[in-house]
Amino acid sequence: MDYLPVFLRLQRQPVVVVGGGSVAARKVSMLLKADAQVTVIAPAVQPQLAAAAARRELRHIAATFSPEQLDDAVAVIAATDDAAVNGAVSQAAQQRRIPVNVVDDAALSSFVFPAIIDRSPILVAVSSAGQAPVLARRVRAQIEAMLPSRLGALARFMGERRRAVQRALGAIARRRFWERVASGPVAGRVLAGDEPGAARAFGRELLSSRLSASPATDGVGLGGEVYLIGAGPGDPDLLTLRALQLLQQADVILYDRLVSPQVLERARRDAELIFVGKTHGEHGQQEHIHELLVRHARAGKRVARLKGGDPFVFGRGGEELEALAAHDIPCTVVPGITAALGAAAGAMLPLTHRRLAHTVSFVNGHQGEGGGFPDWRFFADPQHTVVFYMGLKSLPEIVAQLRAAGARRDHPAAVVAHASLPEQQIVRGTLADIVERAETQQLAPPALLIVGSVAAFAAAAGVRGFTTATSAPAALAAGAHA
Ligand code: SAH
Repeated sequence: MDYLPVFLRLQRQPVVVVGGGSVAARKVSMLLKADAQVTVIAPAVQPQLAAAAARRELRHIAATFSPEQLDDAVAVIAATDDAAVNGAVSQAAQQRRIPVNVVDDAALSSFVFPAIIDRSPILVAVSSAGQAPVLARRVRAQIEAMLPSRLGALARFMGERRRAVQRALGAIARRRFWERVASGPVAGRVLAGDEPGAARAFGRELLSSRLSASPATDGVGLGGEVYLIGAGPGDPDLLTLRALQLLQQADVILYDRLVSPQVLERARRDAELIFVGKTHGEHGQQEHIHELLVRHARAGKRVARLKGGDPFVFGRGGEELEALAAHDIPCTVVPGITAALGAAAGAMLPLTHRRLAHTVSFVNGHQGEGGGFPDWRFFADPQHTVVFYMGLKSLPEIVAQLRAAGARRDHPAAVVAHASLPEQQIVRGTLADIVERAETQQLAPPALLIVGSVAAFAAAAGVRGFTTATSAPAALAAGAHA
């Protein structure tokens, strides 16, 4: 270990910054956040520093550097663009045994600034000991993605209750209690922004801990909760940060066919995974899922219900919400990128391009004959982008209905299968030939049909050369078509 990581308390402590440019200004703003008493030494300073000096948030000494200016400092930062000055500052500080940082020069520094994540009072600091700052920042970004934005609020919530818990519980019970708070429904409520709900759950939790400190009753009767999570179209990078965070917390995960293995890999390693694809028949299956959700939540578990795309777009999320409400089980809904949006990005079809479309509809394409649609003429307008979900099997019927409602033979159409995944396939055509083209390509579900002028967009605009993050196969498919 080349450095000892520590967190320095700087409140009202004198810190000297030599230099008055934008680099100095960044360091100063960090120091001010930590409530340090900052003195800036520079013949001239940039506007933000000047303004801060005018507001008396810092002291500006308009002079060149001289060593005795460091006498009282507890820390020194050299941030000038003059190597000689930086060297002199470093030497003067080290003679006085004052910790010094020379920006971007680990050799002249006795301490370095880490890359930080500030969810005060939780702080995460990452350092590469000055060797690879870019890498340290990447690591920080990866950690940051895992940390809920309200983590600081949770730490404060727990901090405010430390004393009360100390009085109420013995040491061993206490630790177990805090573990449950940090990973259970109390934390879930705080992180969801519901502090009153969290306070109530906390009260219940404390009461039950006092009644029984026995580990055998862990979790029982404490009331679990359910996270209704949209998993997006398949590419795990299209999960939201919140989905990732809750997947890391969940004890039990119910998932179905549309959830890709890549997404499941992002779940907590020791979570119980339950496949709830169709094994009980259409209706029975949904009942079975409701029953599982309720049973596990009742047992005090945090249950993630992971659905392809968005839970509220043809996802039966509403029914699950009703079932949970009927049993008074708290539920958090996390939106996901619905397949239409994943497919549009993958195929580069701007669903509401100003010149090509005024409306977009998401339609269930699997409604049987007649289907209960209001009027197919509504969908036959090329300026209306219509995305048919679950429509691959009924592709010929959908096309026939559109034609019968007046859509022209050259009405553009595209089918996108396995959107966002490496095996993504895109077939473009018109109502005259899309059925045949889809058959030739032997597309397999899940797939979407997109009709309307935008379906011809990528080809027309020649965007084939561009790629989205996952569209290498897409570009190939388009090329094959052309
Ligand atoms: N809740 C989901 C939709 C569930 S309905 C969402 O918001 O995306 C299932 C239908 O979604 C499939 O029949 C298919 O039409 C579509 N679908 C889901 N994932 C898809 C994908 N990766 N590529 C193309 N279509 C997909």
